[in-house]
Amino acid sequence: MKRGRKVKILATLGPASNSEEMIEKLYVAGADVFRINMSHSSHDMMRDLVQKIRNVEEKVERPIGILADLQGPKLRVGMFKDGSVELEPGQTFVMDDNPGEGDNTRVHLPHPEILESVQPGHRLLVDDGRLSLIAEETDGKSITCKVVSGTKISNKKGVSLPDTTLPTGALTEKDHADLEAVLKESVDWVALSFIQRPEDLAEVRKISKGQVGLLSKIEKPQAVERIDEIIELSDAVMVARGDLGVELPLEAVPGIQKQITRKARVAGKPVVVATQMLESMISAPVPTRAEVSDVATAVFEGADAVMLSAESAAGDYPVEAVSTMSQIACKVEKDPTYPGILNAQRSAPEATGSDAISAASRQIAETLDLSAILCFTSSGTTGLRAARERPAVPIIALSPVVETARRLALTWGLYCVVTRDATDLDDMVDLACRIAYDEEFAKPGDRIIISAGVPLGTPGSTNMLRIAYIGSDGLSGI
Ligand code: PGA
Ligand code: MN
Repeated sequence: MKRGRKVKILATLGPASNSEEMIEKLYVAGADVFRINMSHSSHDMMRDLVQKIRNVEEKVERPIGILADLQGPKLRVGMFKDGSVELEPGQTFVMDDNPGEGDNTRVHLPHPEILESVQPGHRLLVDDGRLSLIAEETDGKSITCKVVSGTKISNKKGVSLPDTTLPTGALTEKDHADLEAVLKESVDWVALSFIQRPEDLAEVRKISKGQVGLLSKIEKPQAVERIDEIIELSDAVMVARGDLGVELPLEAVPGIQKQITRKARVAGKPVVVATQMLESMISAPVPTRAEVSDVATAVFEGADAVMLSAESAAGDYPVEAVSTMSQIACKVEKDPTYPGILNAQRSAPEATGSDAISAASRQIAETLDLSAILCFTSSGTTGLRAARERPAVPIIALSPVVETARRLALTWGLYCVVTRDATDLDDMVDLACRIAYDEEFAKPGDRIIISAGVPLGTPGSTNMLRIAYIGSDGLSGI
């Protein structure tokens, strides 16, 4: 299925969308990659969702990416007797080590180390800051707080502690167990929440052994400070604006979004802009003008993907949210100002054969008005470098490795096709022409440009560039 846009859509699954039927609807509406949020999914649920997504993939015959999002050291309150309670500013509210269900006086905070670390005067920001508490008394087992603002708290809401130094490592015990479970399934990306240091990636790398791409969620000021090193060690990054906007002043977030997007583009690593993009569509079939503008900003900036959270996971209009996002992206990418804005951020090729060929492919394709750029990529690197050029013409990434095609589903502009290995150069040209024709990117008489590494199958050896005509039978005319 051709989407008519370069930016990808990452849709979170949840109670509103976890049936196979809904997953297919979201895919058809425009979701390219699905996020399974391990904060809210049991291992059985995760396995069930992976299976359903793979069933849809088989049905639609297109590679679909799956991202499993590890909770990380995200603090959450326990459960309430009735799911949620109303609070009043000025009242007292306690967080403690009692695992019993909460009410409007107290709730369980299942993190003993936090109960010990918080001091009187520290802020506790619940549910992305919607509820703000201040600690008044602490005894190591409970924190007695005063409600400063906000009126509601419900099951498992997140708690941020901007004033408290936390003794947290890279992976919690839950993350370890979740990662092990995820690695047994056909998951393509693992997202790491609340990473603070580049070293946080090393442990996960060691466990995952290249089986999944590692996406670092940037949602702590500490991660923003060391963003260059983190991008270098990550396979992708996310501007996780929800927690970022709690941990840092809200007005700092748009600038940080731009900086991270630009840095990731320079590095040629996929960057996802996430959270509250179409927030009002949780309960309305149309978004606000401001939300439309927010999605448009990320698209103009050349982000690889835009994400839906509760809009697709728990809202009343998941399909509408995906199709709205897709329509915004399609329209922005056709705007006459789009190429200029996008091109202004293009960075020079690095001194590698792969980059020189990717840059040349783009120039030739645009100069000669070719129908598509086709690149053979087994590890995915050539596909990423081709996308880094942000060419105006479509890019078709051809890979014999289905996992590569799925992982690249997150990358800007890549239309991924799983294909057999080419036997020789002529076969490769025929294969590329046939796929460009079959997938309706080119018709007889059109020209395409093909890049590959010769001898075939040598990773990182991109060294060949070829212009080919589509013959009358869909095969190479030259
Ligand atoms: P979350 O991450 O939805 O897992 O919290 C995204 C964010 O914080 O923006
Ligand atoms: Mn977050």
